[in-house]
Amino acid sequence: MKIDGHTHTHYCPHGSGEETAKYIEKAIELDFDVYVLTEHPPLPASFRNQLPYSEELISSLAMKEADLDSYIKEMHKLKQKYKDRIQIRVGLELDYLPEHLDWTRYLLKEYDGYLDETILSVHFLKGVNGWRCVDLTPEDYKEGLIEYYGDFHSVQKVYYQTLQEAICTFHPTRVGHLTLCQKFQHYFANGLYIPEETRKQILSILSIIKQQGCSLDFNTAGLYKKYCLEPYPSSWIVQKACEWEIPLIFGSDAHAVDQVGRSYDIYLKQCIKAAPKR
Ligand SMILES: [Zn+2]
Ligand SMILES: [Zn+2]
Repeated sequence: MKIDGHTHTHYCPHGSGEETAKYIEKAIELDFDVYVLTEHPPLPASFRNQLPYSEELISSLAMKEADLDSYIKEMHKLKQKYKDRIQIRVGLELDYLPEHLDWTRYLLKEYDGYLDETILSVHFLKGVNGWRCVDLTPEDYKEGLIEYYGDFHSVQKVYYQTLQEAICTFHPTRVGHLTLCQKFQHYFANGLYIPEETRKQILSILSIIKQQGCSLDFNTAGLYKKYCLEPYPSSWIVQKACEWEIPLIFGSDAHAVDQVGRSYDIYLKQCIKAAPKR
């Protein structure tokens, strides 16, 4: 089964704006059997108020609250329309917002029965002047997070603590881009080095993932980020996950049609070859 398990749509304000049908047709062209739509759901107003960014930037992070109903309806229509050519699964990429757990719980309850699949990701950490994006720019990462926690490795530590908390709170079906905190690793001195303590944190997250029976997003978007240059998660983690038989699901994280299915060959090389032979 060829799956693209993490993709965005024309509802994403920081995506290309191309019609979702075009993404799906691209996936069909590339022989995908399953295509999972995992748009960013709206962020609650009370959280948006805690983001020290311009109104324009905040609005670009996720769809408007008023759009969520039409997103779900429209995606289900596409699912029906293409059902003979590709299996579409309608979902969301949920954010872990520890001070707004009720919001995420509300989304899950409100759309129960309409969500085939969800990914849980950490995109925000507490930082200078409120909550900061983990993946905006290296300058923002430095100003908002490194200045707040002291150094790169302390940010990593908090990121993984938060991710572990997220998994234990929501028991997701899949964990999104596990090593997102490494997005700017080549920008920062020592960014590539992983302290022993952090390795232990990551292994403990993997063991929780294993226990809970959830899967990992093998997200190739990181390969194309000039300061990351590798898929999320890093290859040593992929190896461990394969050893422990944690399912890794390919995800292009496409925000444009030409990104659908990107670097699927690398997924095959890293994940299928590393899987234990039976
Ligand atoms: Zn996005
Ligand atoms: Zn994401």
